[in-house]
Amino acid sequence: MNALSLRNIQKYYENGAHAVKGVNLDIGCGEFIVVVGPSGCGKSTTLRMIAGFEKATDGEIIVNGKVVNDLEPMKRDMSMVFQSYALYPYMTVYENIAFPLKMRNLRKNEIKRKVEEAAETVSVTPYLKRKPGQLSGGQRQRVALARAIVANTAICLMDEPLSNLDAALRTEMRREIKKLHQRLQNTIVYVTHDQVEAMTLGNRIVVMKDGIIQQIDTPKNIYEKPANCFVASFIGNPQMNICSASIIKEEGQVNLLFVGEKLTIPSEKANMLELKNYVNREILIGFRATDILYGRGYMAEVEHVELIGSKQHVKTTLEGHSVNLQFPSSLSIDKFVPFSINMDKLHFFDINTEERIC
Ligand code: ADP
Repeated sequence: MNALSLRNIQKYYENGAHAVKGVNLDIGCGEFIVVVGPSGCGKSTTLRMIAGFEKATDGEIIVNGKVVNDLEPMKRDMSMVFQSYALYPYMTVYENIAFPLKMRNLRKNEIKRKVEEAAETVSVTPYLKRKPGQLSGGQRQRVALARAIVANTAICLMDEPLSNLDAALRTEMRREIKKLHQRLQNTIVYVTHDQVEAMTLGNRIVVMKDGIIQQIDTPKNIYEKPANCFVASFIGNPQMNICSASIIKEEGQVNLLFVGEKLTIPSEKANMLELKNYVNREILIGFRATDILYGRGYMAEVEHVELIGSKQHVKTTLEGHSVNLQFPSSLSIDKFVPFSINMDKLHFFDINTEERIC
């Protein structure tokens, strides 16, 4: 049985905003699901409806086989970690972590054991007597995590829990959350706008845009087989290059015509394009900055070079197409840079629907 299912969930706010438009999602027990998308795409609204803080306008939220739409948050067997920590400022760290256990009227000894264990797990034992105001952002976020751990709920919901932290701490906490999940094996639904977090944390990623799910898949598949141009450019840094090109057929061979060059399409994709009637039509191609080779082929005009350790990101223009390329930093890049596209890594999208062809 799934730990959590959403069936055609809709959310209209009172001001008429249609924040979530028919979301369907099945989450297995012990899965770590990351919901990712740009600001305003409906991620938090979806999470708040799961938690019960927001009512779904339509559809069903099913936990362990039971519809919970009308169940109050406390009765849903879920814990939640927010971006803003949401710790009680007048309570000590110990009291903050103990809070959900006190609410359940557990015995004092048991509360003590569980709090100490959770504090140890996220390394806040030395601060148990402090108030949240006497902690750094990272320490506060750990306390919030400890509180979610002791609650020991089947499902843990996390809403951008790391976005208040600096880059180094974010990386560290990411690892801790991942380790914690491996140990506790609970079901986590994690919301973020950060595609790196999504790629590194999730067993599966849900990409959202304008209240609609664009793709649900493993990080590898989302990266290697994006369902449409939006997913292709949202996941990965730098963004995938998306350019218009044409499919032609000459002497029985299906080729790509891009910026005056005729390129051979690998046979499996060539067959697919022909089968789907894309011959003699314009399409969109996508290739990542890394899916190219230095030398031969195109000459792109260099606009900007960014040196990042052992590699360099080069922003170029190719006959009006803006293209990001990546090279080893050992190469000296001048006004023009020669490159060719790795055709095995090329993505094809429909120019009208922007959906993946192959
Ligand atoms: P995200 O978490 O992806 O940034 P949200 O779920 O917070 O997005 O918001 C989705 C949409 O719903 C946005 O257009 C936002 O302006 C709108 N919205 C969010 N909360 C409310 C609210 N309480 N009242 C009205 N509109 C809201």
